[in-house]
Amino acid sequence: MSGAVHESVLDAIGATPLIRLRRVAEGLAPRIYVKAEWLNAGGSVKDRAALAMVRAAERSGDLRPGGVIVEGTSGNTGIGLALVGGYLGYRTLIVVPDTTAAEKIAALRAYGAEVVLTPGGLPGDDPRHVVNLAARVAAETPGGWLADQYGNPANPQAHRDTTAPEIWAQTGGAVTCLVAGIGTGGTLSGTGAALKDLGPVRVVGVDPENSAYGGGDGSPYYVEAIGHYVHPDTVDDAWPENWDRSVADEIVRVDDRTTMVTARRLAREEGLLLGGSSATAVAGALRVARDLGPDDVVVVVAPDSGRAYLSKYFDDGWLRRLGFTDEPGSVGELAVDL
Ligand code: PMP
Repeated sequence: MSGAVHESVLDAIGATPLIRLRRVAEGLAPRIYVKAEWLNAGGSVKDRAALAMVRAAERSGDLRPGGVIVEGTSGNTGIGLALVGGYLGYRTLIVVPDTTAAEKIAALRAYGAEVVLTPGGLPGDDPRHVVNLAARVAAETPGGWLADQYGNPANPQAHRDTTAPEIWAQTGGAVTCLVAGIGTGGTLSGTGAALKDLGPVRVVGVDPENSAYGGGDGSPYYVEAIGHYVHPDTVDDAWPENWDRSVADEIVRVDDRTTMVTARRLAREEGLLLGGSSATAVAGALRVARDLGPDDVVVVVAPDSGRAYLSKYFDDGWLRRLGFTDEPGSVGELAVDL
C-alpha cells in the first residue's frame, strides 16, 4: 500500500492511522488501538480544531482576507493556528505565558506567528492572564479574530466531522469504547457524541487525579494539556463551554506516577514515544479494558508525540527531582498496577 498524495499541507490534517497496542495490553481481552494524532501535519490533534475554527470563521465573515488570527495558548492549538494561518496568509498572534518552554515559543515563531508574552501563573480573573489578554489583543487589533478554543463550537465540530467518522470507518463500525483526555473538551465531546450517533459506544474521559473534571480538588498536577486546574485565587472557575459532560459515560482518574510509567512503557515496549496526555489516556483505557470482552474494540486518542517532553517524563533527573522515583533509571522498570 502506498501513502497518500496531498496537494496542500492542510490535507495532511486528519486521516490518522489506528495503531494496535500489543505488549502493554497483554492479558486484556479487547483489541486496543491508539488514534495516532501526533501524525497530523502540525504534530497534534489540535490541528483539526485549528483548521476547522479558521474555516468556520472565514465562512461566517469573522475572519476576512488580511485579518489577524489571535489565540491565548501555550500549547498545540497555537502551533495548529500558526501552521494554518501562515499557510493561508493570515497574520497570527499567539499570547503565551512566559513560563512556556523555549522550544514551544521557537516553534510558533518558526511557523511565522508573532508571540506576545505575559506572566505565567496568574489567576483567571487577572487582565494579563493569557485568555483575557488574547481577548483584548483580538479586540484592539484591526481585523483581529479570537479563535477561542474553549468556547468555539467549531472545535468539537471538527471531531464530529472528522475524528469520529474516521474511527467508525477504520474499525468497520466495531468500535465499542472511546477513551480520551479532556482539555477544552473538544476531542471527547465531539468524537464521543458523533460515535454515539453511529452506534452503542461507551465514552470514557480520562483525567489527572487532582483535576476537577473527574472530581479532584483542582490542585496542581504534572501532566500537561489536559484536566482542569483550579487556581486558588480564582473564585468562579467555570468549566469550558466545549466540555459537554453529558457525553462521557464515566471519567477515570489517573495519577501522575502512572502516567509517567505508562509513557515509558509505551516508548520501550510499543515503540510509541507519546506525550503525557496520551499516556494518561492509555493508562485509563487499560484499566477500563479489564472489564471488557474479546468482542470489544477500544480506541484511545493519543494527542501528541513525546518529543516535546523529552526533558520531562522521559528524563530520570526530572522524575527524581519531583519525587517519582528513588533510584536513577528505575521508573521504566517499576511494576505498576495499571
Ligand atoms: N493532549 C494534548 C497534548 C493537548 O494539547 C490537548 C489540547 N489542550 C489535549 C490533550 C486535550 O484536547 P481537547 O482540548 O480537545 O480536550
